[in-house]
Amino acid sequence: MKENITIIGAGLVGSLLSIYLSKRGYKVKVYERRGDMRKEKMSAGRSINLALSDRGLLALEKVGLAEEIKKISIPMHGRYIHNLDGSSAFQPYGKEGQYINSVSRGTLNMKLMDLAEEQGVEIYFNEKLSKIDWSNEVIEFESNKNKPLPSFKTDLIFGADGAFSAARLQHQLQHGKFNYSQYYIDCGYKELTIPPTSDGEFAMQVNALHIWPRKDYMLIALPNLDKTFTCTLFFPFEGEASFEKLSTPEAVKSFFERTFPDAVKLMPDYINEFFTNPTSSLVTVKCFPWIRGDKFALIGDAAHAIVPFFGQGMNCGFEDCRVLDELIDKHKQDWGKILKEYQTLRKPDGDAIADLAINNFTEMRDKTADPKFLLQKKIEARLHEKYPDKWIPAYSQVTFSPHIRYSEALKRGQMQEAIMQDVMAMPGIEEKWENVEVEDVILRRLNS
Ligand SMILES: Cc1cc2nc3c(=O)[nH]c(=O)nc-3n(C[C@H](O)[C@H](O)[C@H](O)COP(=O)(O)OP(=O)(O)OC[C@H]3O[C@@H](n4cnc5c(N)ncnc54)[C@H](O)[C@@H]3O)c2cc1C
Repeated sequence: MKENITIIGAGLVGSLLSIYLSKRGYKVKVYERRGDMRKEKMSAGRSINLALSDRGLLALEKVGLAEEIKKISIPMHGRYIHNLDGSSAFQPYGKEGQYINSVSRGTLNMKLMDLAEEQGVEIYFNEKLSKIDWSNEVIEFESNKNKPLPSFKTDLIFGADGAFSAARLQHQLQHGKFNYSQYYIDCGYKELTIPPTSDGEFAMQVNALHIWPRKDYMLIALPNLDKTFTCTLFFPFEGEASFEKLSTPEAVKSFFERTFPDAVKLMPDYINEFFTNPTSSLVTVKCFPWIRGDKFALIGDAAHAIVPFFGQGMNCGFEDCRVLDELIDKHKQDWGKILKEYQTLRKPDGDAIADLAINNFTEMRDKTADPKFLLQKKIEARLHEKYPDKWIPAYSQVTFSPHIRYSEALKRGQMQEAIMQDVMAMPGIEEKWENVEVEDVILRRLNS
């Protein structure tokens, strides 16, 4: 029986995992590299806000947190598209009543840490993992304040220390056959702000995720409870239109006025923010194995960092926690079996959502403004309405169907896409898309 569990990283996933484990009676200690964001003013890291969807909510619900977190979230029922010609369109995400939630990363992380501590979890801040000695089962930390902590033994370690995980590196360094790949896309991101209007209201439709799709790049905006929107520019590092080219305030002004004319009017400080806020990169990390016997496992971004275009990184990490918890019941605390099955189940799902997320980048920045793509989505939505068990659009499988595994969603999505490519190639599809003939073709293909 393991009693003492150590988690490296008090980010979103490490904090939620600590709640799950302490609720089961384990003695949980969490070691976090940064200071305590509840006491010191600091960035919560990565994006300012995030989209929380049904998988994340299901994981929160299992420890009784979903309702509390919903209270600090803003529902987004669909995409609000801002075209270059000034026109705009609302595209619902799913069926009536289905939505994703915009939540502040900092507020969510602080809430999870509060709840973890209420549950008896001990969180140590300014403690950076430096070494794991596998043969002696000893962990060492290097304090940010230059006073090394004494090393200590633990029964089980979880590496929840994000995309650039030190725990993963320690695992890799002392492993004979560790597979690892990291892939940076050629786009980075920068955050900008749309403040409230002069009368203190949201400057745009609040219950939507706003997108300015511009083919090779895009701007998006998610609402915050303080009536601001956090905008994120996903933009190439190099090339004709790129961060490299926007090196002066004049270049930024001219580019934004040409490319995002309606957004510019709502962002009084964007030029200053463009030069003050960091430009960050986006990486996909895949690795294997995630575990070491019954002593160690990677979880969250440390196991599977993905690009943010499906809004699933945190949701996937929260789902890791839920699946692991179910396996604790199934294998009656036999950690060798628990970790083995956790890896068997989650590795293909982590790989699948990584691929889905890369594909969704093209969809968001390019296709959301394409009439043919919009027609395809209309046909799919109609099918889903009529045959909800037979046809679930790929986006809905990932976002609103937490019981469909990511690997299954990827497979089904590819099969449906192949059918839709043929349907969209039918002569006159624009006129006859609601005809029985089209429906019959799809149903026949599905049944075969
Ligand atoms: C621009 C952007 C937008 C995103 N939008 C979404 C979204 O809408 N929806 C969604 O679901 N996901 C989104 N994500 C993904 C999401 O941010 C991550 O999947 C999520 O933060 C992963 O949580 P984590 O706890 O695994 O890692 P992290 O959040 O990275 O937390 C890791 C923690 O470990 C600590 N740490 C690191 N090294 C050490 C060490 N050596 N010792 C001790 N502690 C250490 C860090 O300080 C940090 O607190 C987005 C990501 C980006 C970049």
